[in-house]
Amino acid sequence: MIIVRSRDGSELRVDGYRVRFFERIDLPPIDRRLKAIREAGWNTFQLKADDVFLDMLTDSGVNAMSINQLAAMMSAQDAYAGSRTFYEFAETVEEILSFKYVIPVHQGRAAEHLLAKVFVREGSIVPMNYHFTTTKTHIDLAGGIVVEIPVKEALDIKSRYPFKGDIDVSKLEEILKKERGKVAFVRIEAVANLLGGQPVSMKNIREVRELCDRYGVPLVLDGSMVDWNVYFIKEREPGYRSKKLVDILREFVSYSDIFYMSARKAPSVRGGFIATNNREFYEKIVIHVPVYEGFPTYGGMSIKEIAAMAIGLREMVDENLIGSELELIKYVVEELDKRGIPVVLPPGGLGVHIEASQFLPHVPRNAYPAGSLAAALYLASGVRSMERGAMSMDRDRDGREIYPDLELIRIAFPRRTYLKSHADYLIDRVLWLYEHRDIVEGLRWIYEPPVLRFFLGRLEDIGNWGEKLVEVYKKELGDL
Ligand SMILES: *Cc1c(COP(=O)(O)O)cnc(C)c1O
Repeated sequence: MIIVRSRDGSELRVDGYRVRFFERIDLPPIDRRLKAIREAGWNTFQLKADDVFLDMLTDSGVNAMSINQLAAMMSAQDAYAGSRTFYEFAETVEEILSFKYVIPVHQGRAAEHLLAKVFVREGSIVPMNYHFTTTKTHIDLAGGIVVEIPVKEALDIKSRYPFKGDIDVSKLEEILKKERGKVAFVRIEAVANLLGGQPVSMKNIREVRELCDRYGVPLVLDGSMVDWNVYFIKEREPGYRSKKLVDILREFVSYSDIFYMSARKAPSVRGGFIATNNREFYEKIVIHVPVYEGFPTYGGMSIKEIAAMAIGLREMVDENLIGSELELIKYVVEELDKRGIPVVLPPGGLGVHIEASQFLPHVPRNAYPAGSLAAALYLASGVRSMERGAMSMDRDRDGREIYPDLELIRIAFPRRTYLKSHADYLIDRVLWLYEHRDIVEGLRWIYEPPVLRFFLGRLEDIGNWGEKLVEVYKKELGDL
């Protein structure tokens, strides 16, 4: 954002880019939406993108790319081994993030797979601010145990604590003391995806670093959405307002031993990487790359994407570019909060998060309030959001449901993609749905996969509520 003083003395935030390519989108009529969500087994992951109006499922791989990224893709040097483009990318990692060693991988979960393989053993413990779906699955599969220790404010959606992604450092110290020798690494995710895109403060990562040093445990940083975290530090943390984003980023990542990211997020491409200054860690990880990813100078990515990723890393801390979707998210969250919708506060990164078990208090948790709300929002608007509640957790080893602390839907704002009119449309439809929330009931499984069930699972609407909702919609709002 370009921040200037307004004539009334307040701050004016202006987007530092203009749009030079665009994609036409269509709002499918409500009858088609009903047919589509039925065919999708009431799971928004299973919808065809052509049946969606605003695709707010995720920011992953769908952020707008810059003309410089597109240009770099054309001049990338394709080579199986030793591509110049890879070395240019490695230099950019060193310049922007100050890491000497870098390992490209095909996406974020591939980084998690390799880290779990190298560091996690049967019975290992991995304390973290909060899990991400793919992270937890890889640690589970390697026999490890995820222990979540966010600050207590993180689980209270109404709390406006500015850094809800922080780790509870006294709990961390207890674990490090008690479980000496069993902790594989400590993991920080910034921003914390499943807590509602909430940031981690510089103060917190510094304190975690000190504890890791004291107990001799590596600190792993998942920086998939670190661009937003850095912006929030600049906005919210004392002492950082006048610092440059790139300097805040460098300080933030300097506290980690191993940094990884899904480059589908902040750098707006399709790929990922692991970076470190520790030669021993690098050597332990890189030997697995030819087995699971590809030769270590492309790591399962297209060279074109590696070229664009290098540009994306620079743009990730470009003062003109960062923040425009955060301002839209803030606008929607504040408007919905004013009207009593249970949104996660304060406005975070990634998207607008609604607590579904408060939005649909009559739907029991084993009938998946968040899954139901995501399906209902699609019906009422053509907006595709993502379930981030019980469906996104898999059952435990005995087949029992695990209910996460928050039962959320996430309405993502991919970087530099949607406009203010889209935000206003979204607000209108969420409010309409809230007025008719009694109609929405739960979902039940028709097909439930054993791992990461939310991706491929199929369900049905209990009591045929979808049709009832559509009937009322047509009466009040028409066919579109
Ligand atoms: C998306 C994401 C991942 C996984 O990355 P993929 O590229 O989707 O495999 C890991 N951690 C966080 C925080 C993410 O947001």
